[in-house]
Amino acid sequence: MKYIEPHGHMVSRTTDDYQKMAMAGCEAICEPAFWAGYDRASVDGFYDYFSQLTEYEPARAAKFGIAHFCWLCINPKESEDAGFAREVLSLIPEFIDKPSVLGIGEIGLNKNTKNELAIFEEHVDIAKRYDQPILIHTPHLEDKLKGTKLIIDALKNANVDPSRVVIDHVEEHTAGLVLDEGFWAGMTLYPESKCTPARAIDILENYGMENIWMNSACDWGISDPLAVAKTALEMGKRKYDKQTIERIVYENPKRFLEQCPNFKI
Ligand SMILES: [Zn+2]
Repeated sequence: MKYIEPHGHMVSRTTDDYQKMAMAGCEAICEPAFWAGYDRASVDGFYDYFSQLTEYEPARAAKFGIAHFCWLCINPKESEDAGFAREVLSLIPEFIDKPSVLGIGEIGLNKNTKNELAIFEEHVDIAKRYDQPILIHTPHLEDKLKGTKLIIDALKNANVDPSRVVIDHVEEHTAGLVLDEGFWAGMTLYPESKCTPARAIDILENYGMENIWMNSACDWGISDPLAVAKTALEMGKRKYDKQTIERIVYENPKRFLEQCPNFKI
């Protein structure tokens, strides 16, 4: 089986994880910029992080035959200080032309605050200015539905083409909303919170196989870098044929990501 990990935070993982993912059939990993396991004290911390995403991680992945790509932004968790966030935004043009950059992400909301929303809108402006696709993070638990609605409204107000935006971390109560508006939807597979493999397959059965992907996040929390491969196995147990499984774990992400000029596998 071959698959794409469309949302994996490899800076939080060991090199063994790259090896395991390669053995499971992973051909490409896309890493959205996010929290680095700690709040950065200065804009220099982000400069180093963007360098890590665009230089070090692609080299680490290449040792295992995996292509590594990234998205750039300041995540909503660290965007509450709008002045600081704007300093980080000013770094993006310097990195946007690097050969493995896919677009702007993962931007979005964390606690649905005014400042987060203002910085979200400024990221959308940058994406429009540089003609970049967008990857979106939606908030957790009780903030998710409200945050998803706020995000969709902001994108509509900005006249963004929804087919070039993927809204990630959808669950049962937000998947329909996202897909009906013409956006792509991402499901994040977690052993405990967000979607378990079984819940993700249920969502596919309810909302169809169009414009939807699965990812493992493999971040700083309890998460499993092999979650996409394990969910593909779980789909096999439910008697999905090989072609349908490959559509979800490989063809769909490839179709979205090929809208990014730098994505090639
Ligand atoms: Zn993420």
